[in-house]
Amino acid sequence: MVAVSCSSRPRVASCSLVQESHYPAIELLRDLIKRKSVTPEDAGCQDVLIQRLTAIGFDCEQMPFGDVSNLWARRGTSGPVLCFAGHTDVVPAGNLDDWNSDPFDAVIRGDTLFGRGAADMKGGIAAMLVAIEEFVAENPDHDGSLAMLITSDEEGPARDGTLKVMAELTNRNEKIDWCILGEPSSGKQLGDTIRIGRRGSLSAILTVRGIQGHVAYPQLADNPISRFAPVLAELNEIEWDQGNEFFPPTSFQIVSIEAGTGAPNVTPAELKARFNFRYSSEWEHDGLQQKLEEIFDSHDIDYKLDWHLSGKPFLTKPGKLVDALSQAVEEISGSPPELSTGGGTSDGRFISPAGIDVVELGLSNATVHKVDEQVKIEDVIALCGMYKRTMELLLNAPDVVPNANAAKCDHSNEYPGRHRKAE
Ligand SMILES: [Zn+2]
Repeated sequence: MVAVSCSSRPRVASCSLVQESHYPAIELLRDLIKRKSVTPEDAGCQDVLIQRLTAIGFDCEQMPFGDVSNLWARRGTSGPVLCFAGHTDVVPAGNLDDWNSDPFDAVIRGDTLFGRGAADMKGGIAAMLVAIEEFVAENPDHDGSLAMLITSDEEGPARDGTLKVMAELTNRNEKIDWCILGEPSSGKQLGDTIRIGRRGSLSAILTVRGIQGHVAYPQLADNPISRFAPVLAELNEIEWDQGNEFFPPTSFQIVSIEAGTGAPNVTPAELKARFNFRYSSEWEHDGLQQKLEEIFDSHDIDYKLDWHLSGKPFLTKPGKLVDALSQAVEEISGSPPELSTGGGTSDGRFISPAGIDVVELGLSNATVHKVDEQVKIEDVIALCGMYKRTMELLLNAPDVVPNANAAKCDHSNEYPGRHRKAE
């Protein structure tokens, strides 16, 4: 068996039909998927990373908080520090009968690997680790430091994971300059999108109080549903902003409304609703809260709002990190990535406030959290190449010559899956 490195992929891997298992990143990915690490379980995934990182000169530090496993690993003592970050936990598989194969068996069919966490984001972790191994083997005396920050609590409450590790690192004055999160950022094609920020997420639970009564005698009751209806109509009409150069417009969504006693002849005493803002950098969260409360106050309604801020918006403006990652993507995929701030929240919200440049590049998000979650084998290998090339550009001599074959090798015939119709 010949191991195939990620940088040699364009010539060897995809232009000849090499067995998938010969790729170190695929072997590692299958091993990680087989470890059933549903949040907050890590199921030994981080032990695998620790063993391999230690072997190439990383200092590995486990930082458990509660039942969450966290890993901080670093190679080198000087700056700049380039950190790869991500999570080993996965969401539950759901109904196993809906899957075509066991979600924790990491089955390969054709050019595709199936399993829970394949895209979100064990595929990203496998690509990072193998990229780091190859980079260190070729550049043992690289500039600055390499680091990994891994948690098993991203898909869950996210309180004992990256948030706590960042607090600890900040406490010790341990500085990170650049951070690449391996969350599945890609859409139709690997590397078509790099996330350079995220919108903020602000939620609230609304309680509207009224007076319960007989449906036939509304004059003796006060129906909270009727009180809330005009407020909701007004909220739905508002254009909060138009977004800006980096952010899409702020959106307001009602998530649930509950009221009623269960009896058809009784109007309820109370209504509860939940809603969420995904907001751009045009707003501060307290500004949104204030505006919303002003709207409620302009109506005749007895209400209470319990706010929860899950993440402020953040943005990494184009600079060294974004440039290097974009260049690496373009060299390997053949086209430059789109810089986006779309999508849900990620652990980037805990890393960015420390003044760290954070970007996200990972596999396709088409099947994340779904049944039959899957990744294209060639995409994992190519992602590995993108990470490795980024390390070369940021931590190595600038005269590194890119692999000219990387972008040119046409292997589309061997991977019919690449010819997906535009959706
Ligand atoms: Zn994820």
